[in-house]
Formats: sequence, structure tokens, C-alpha cells
Amino acid sequence: MVDLTIMPQPHAESARLIWRKLWPMAGRGLAGLLPARPGRDKGGAPALRIMATMDFANSPRSLALQASLRQFMADLVLPSMAEWHRWSDAGVYPLDLIEPLKAQARALGLWNLFLPSLRDDQPGTRLSNLDYAPLAEIMGQVPWAAEIFNCNAPDSGTMELLQIAATPAQAERWLAPLLRGEIRSCFAMSEPDTASSDPTQLSTAIVQDGSDWVVSGRKWFITGAAHPLCRFAVVMGRNGGAGDEENLPEHARHSMLIVPMDSAGLTVERNIPVMDHQSLEGHCELVFRDVRVPADHLLGEPGAGFALAQARLGPGRVHHAMRSIGQCELALALMCERALERRAFGSRLADFANVGDWVAESRLEIDQARLLVLQAAWRLDTQGAAAARTDVAAIKLVSSRLQTRVLDRAMQVFGAMSLSPDTPLARLWAWGRALRFLDGPDEVHLRTVARAEFKRARSQRGANAAHLRRWMPAPV
Ligand SMILES: Cc1cc2nc3c(=O)[nH]c(=O)nc-3n(C[C@H](O)[C@H](O)[C@H](O)COP(=O)(O)OP(=O)(O)OC[C@H]3O[C@@H](n4cnc5c(N)ncnc54)[C@H](O)[C@@H]3O)c2cc1C
Repeated sequence: MVDLTIMPQPHAESARLIWRKLWPMAGRGLAGLLPARPGRDKGGAPALRIMATMDFANSPRSLALQASLRQFMADLVLPSMAEWHRWSDAGVYPLDLIEPLKAQARALGLWNLFLPSLRDDQPGTRLSNLDYAPLAEIMGQVPWAAEIFNCNAPDSGTMELLQIAATPAQAERWLAPLLRGEIRSCFAMSEPDTASSDPTQLSTAIVQDGSDWVVSGRKWFITGAAHPLCRFAVVMGRNGGAGDEENLPEHARHSMLIVPMDSAGLTVERNIPVMDHQSLEGHCELVFRDVRVPADHLLGEPGAGFALAQARLGPGRVHHAMRSIGQCELALALMCERALERRAFGSRLADFANVGDWVAESRLEIDQARLLVLQAAWRLDTQGAAAARTDVAAIKLVSSRLQTRVLDRAMQVFGAMSLSPDTPLARLWAWGRALRFLDGPDEVHLRTVARAEFKRARSQRGANAAHLRRWMPAPV
């Protein structure tokens, strides 16, 4: 069925395709809905924003998995929370608790829920991004839950990347054990000495020397590098050694390389505390001192680093955004409970108008954000990563801003207790604040959205001229 829906963000190619379907129908009854002569942008796309129906319904399979996941969280994860805190407060990564939970999740089919492109011989559910999104929301409420279902960052991103770019030998050695949840990985891009929001500046050198690649540089905030099972880093660095690198386009000068964590010359210098909290899996500073890896550790072609980074990012942002929305739902529920039971100045906090406004605004903003994320997931599934680029930037921005806003309101309602470890609010807020940098700061995503809008406006220049008024003498 073809439906007419105003498209929030136009994508020329899909609009063109749909227009081709719609235009012949114009003479058969749709003429009133379509302009007589559609305005066209430079690429020939219609100015009228039209697209096929956005269908956000989850498949029966996704609904069944959501029910199982909720049950698993209630029966096994939530009752383990106290134990998890006991171990992690003692500075021990609670593998003894997590590994049995992983085994149970896998036995129930709650495993690798995020990767639509899995082959038949790879373990997992092959859900679309849209079908996976609500599962990420459920996991998001407990920061360490995603690992139990083998859906945690940064490994989910590494698996996406290896699924796209690994050679059969690389897939066998690195992807297969990741998919089985036997090892972990990290993604090493950001550097202390370069503005990492602009990765064209990355200076870590990847130089070919005989049949090896040699890596030299310093990376930091590398999530997961201190995990006891982390076995390799995917390192993004600048190609050197061939002599003609500076003549290449800016986005063709970097490559990605698999570097085993036990390589000679690679050291984890420190686990950097984030807002005074040291996570056990780590956001680490790594130093590569002439680290040598064989030539077959390169991912894709030399110079393909940016293309690979783009391919890796889309689904990962849907995951982060939905987990953030899960955290907002938790904060809202806690805020409501607290407001209903706490009394001040003769009233329950819930009776104060400002608290009611915070609750209502949180509900509205969460629901708006969720729809935006589902739209991005739907577009990734139906039109691919390139078409979803702006949507993916938008949800990264909207969800991380929303997370700190809703968490902040909940904290205000809880008073001083919110700053203690007795609620999850302070820890979640700090994570939300970090989210506004990691995977690119807000401003970079705003720039992506603004560029898309200006591009569209340029292609339709003058289309709105009729809305502007010019002074004219009164008619006589
Ligand atoms: C908890 C955490 C985990 C992380 N995990 C990883 C990881 O696993 N792997 C990894 O490689 N990196 C990781 N990072 C690093 C993260 O990706 C970088 O912090 C991020 O890319 C920003 O780079 P930067 O910190 O160098 O900021 P900079 O690039 O120095 O930017 C600083 C500020 O400049 C401004 N700015 C930048 N560009 C623009 C623009 N175009 N327009 C307007 N203003 C602009 C923004 O206000 C921005 O916040 C992590 C960071 C954190 C906090």
C-alpha cells in the first residue's frame, strides 16, 4: 500500500521512488492531493515531502522477546543488583555473577539481539533495528545489563564493524568469540592531543613496515579496555610510510587496525575516572609504542577508516538512545514514587505544581524522543545508513540531552539523597553527561542536522516566495 504522509526529513532518493509510484496515480483520483507540477530540487526530487507510511509496529517475535527479557530482568537481573554493587564497590569486576547470567540468557535465546545481518551459522536473533529498539530500552535501566545479553557497547559496535569488514580469517579469530561472548573488545579512536570530535586530525600513526603495520600514538577514554576479557582494540590511525598520504582526500588518510591487547609495546596507562567515578571495565588511556601487528590485521582497505567508522555508528546510536530512554523511564518512575510519598509544608511533593510540571514534561519529552529514535531505526532498516545519517545524528543529540534533563528533575525531587549512592540517579546522570561527548559532542550533531536543512533549502530556493509580501499600492 502506498500512503501519503508528510515526511519529517526528506531523502531525495526515497522521495523520487515514491513520486514515481504516486505521480501516475494522480490522474486516477489523487490529483487533488498532488501539485499540478511538482517543484523539483537539483537532483530531481519533488519539493513536496512525501514518503511511504512509517510503520513502527513490532513484529510478534520482538514482542515475545520483550516479554521474555522483562521476565529475565525481573527474575534474575534485579535480584542480583545488590551483589553486583557489593563486588564492584570492592573494585572487582563481577564476572562470577555475570558469566552464569550470560549462560542463562543465551540458553533462553536472549542473545545477540541487535545484529540484523547475522548469518545462519552465527548465534543471535537477527532482529531489525526497529524490533531491537524496545529491547535496548528495557536493558538500559540497569547499566550493566546489556553485557548479559551480549548487546553491550563497545562490543556491539565492534561486531557490526567486523561483520561488515572482516576477512574470513579475521572473523574466525575475533568476531566468532565476540559473538559467543567469550572475549571483549575496545574501540580506540580519541586522543588527548587532538580534538577528537574532528577525527580527520587524529595523529596516531599506522605505518607499513615490511609485512607488518607499526602503530605509535596515545589514545584515551577507551571504554572497555580494562575489562578482564578485553582481548583486542580496533585502532583508528593515520596512514604513513607510503609518502603520498598528504595528497589523499582528508577522509581517505586513516585506517582501522586490529591490535591484540597483549601486543608488545601496548600499555594501558590508567583507567580515567569519569566525574570522579572509576568504572571497572574502564575508560582507559592507552599508549602504543611502536606496536607491531601483521599485515592481515588491517580492517578493510588502507584509508577506509572513515567509511568504516560511519558504517559502525548508525545502529550503535539507536542502541545508546534507547538505553537512555530506558534510564529516563526509570528516573520518571522513581520521581513519581518519591513525589507521592514525600511530604513538605503540609503537602505531598506531588501536589506542588512545579513537580507536576516536571513529571508531565518528562513524559511528553520521553515519548517524543522515543518516536524520533524509532523513526531513525525504521529508516536504517528500510533505507540504509546513508539515508538515516541525519536521523541518527538527531537521536544521539536528543536522547543524551533528554537523559540529563529528566535525571536532573528526578534528582531535584529526591533532594540530597539523589547525590548519594543510595539511588541510581547520580551515576546515571553522570553517564548522561558523558554521553553528550562520547560518539561526538552535541554541537557536531547539530551541525549535521543544520547542514541537511540548508542543503534542502538551497535545493528549493524560492519555493516559499509566495508566502512573502511586497508592498503594493492599494487597488483602485
Ligand atoms: C565516558 C566516555 C567514554 C568514551 N569512550 C570512548 C571510546 O570507547 N573510544 C573512543 O575513541 N573515544 C571515547 N570517548 C571519547 C569521545 O568520543 C570524545 O570525547 C569525543 O569524540 C569528543 O572529543 P574531545 O573530547 O577531544 O572534544 P573536542 O573535540 O576537543 O571538543 C570539545 C568541544 O568543542 C566544541 N566543538 C567541537 N566541534 C564543534 C563544532 N563542529 N561546532 C561547535 N563546537 C564544536 C564542543 O563544545 C565540544 O564539546 C569517550 C568519552 C567519554 C566521556
